[in-house]
Amino acid sequence: MIAVAIDGPSGVGKSSVSQEVAKKLGFFHLDTGALYRAIAYYAVKNEIFSGFSANELKKIDIKVEFKDNSQSTFLNGENITELLRNEEIAKIASKISREKLIRNFLIVIQRNVAKENNVIMDGRDIGTVVLPQANLKIFLTAKPEVRAQRRFLELKENGHKNVIFNDVLKEIVERDNEDSRRKVAPLKVAEDAVFLDSSNMNLNETVLKIMNLVKGIL
Ligand code: C5P
Repeated sequence: MIAVAIDGPSGVGKSSVSQEVAKKLGFFHLDTGALYRAIAYYAVKNEIFSGFSANELKKIDIKVEFKDNSQSTFLNGENITELLRNEEIAKIASKISREKLIRNFLIVIQRNVAKENNVIMDGRDIGTVVLPQANLKIFLTAKPEVRAQRRFLELKENGHKNVIFNDVLKEIVERDNEDSRRKVAPLKVAEDAVFLDSSNMNLNETVLKIMNLVKGIL
C-alpha cells in the first residue's frame, strides 16, 4: 500500500488539495480532522465539557466511508459529515485533540485505513506520529494572513456577510498556537517531510506540485 501524509496548519487547504490529488491517483483521501470533529460533535451532543474517560470512548463508534472521491463520517451509525464543518466544532476539536486517550483512539482508525488502501491522509501529525513510514510526507503551509484571506472570502461566499477579516485572522493564529504548543502530537514538520509554502500558489498549482512529488515515489 502507498501512503502520502499531508500535514499543516488550519485553513491552508489541505483537504481540498488532498482530495484533488487522491482523485487523480485513484487513492482514498482520509481527512483526519473530521475524526477529531466527530468526537467534538459527540461531546457537544452529550454535554461533555471536561475530558473523556476510557468508558465514554467505549460508547463511540466512528466509521468512514469513501464514495465518489469523498469521505462520509459516521458516528454510532449516523452520517454526521455535514454537521462537522463549523467554527464551534472546530474549536472543540482543537481542544479535545490535546487528550492522549482520544489521539490513541483515533490512531487505530487512521492506521487501519492506511493498512487496507492507498491513501492520501491529511492532518497535523500524520507524518510524525500516525504514519511515520509514509512513502511521502508533505508539510503544506501558507502565511497566516493568506490563510485568513482565503477563509474570509470563503465565508463571504457562503453568505456570512458581516464577517470581519481581523476576527478570522485571530482565530487562525489562535488555532495555530494551540495545535503547535500542545504536548501530545503537536503540529510540526517531520524531519523527512517536503516543506511546501503555498502562500503564492493557487489550488491547481499546489495540486500539480504535489502530483509531481507523488510521481517520484510511484
Ligand atoms: O483539520 P481540521 O480543521 O478539520 O481539524 C480540526 C482540529 O482537529 C484541529 O485544529 C486540530 O487541533 C485537530 N487535529 C489534530 N490532528 C489531526 C487532525 C486534526 O489534532 N491529525
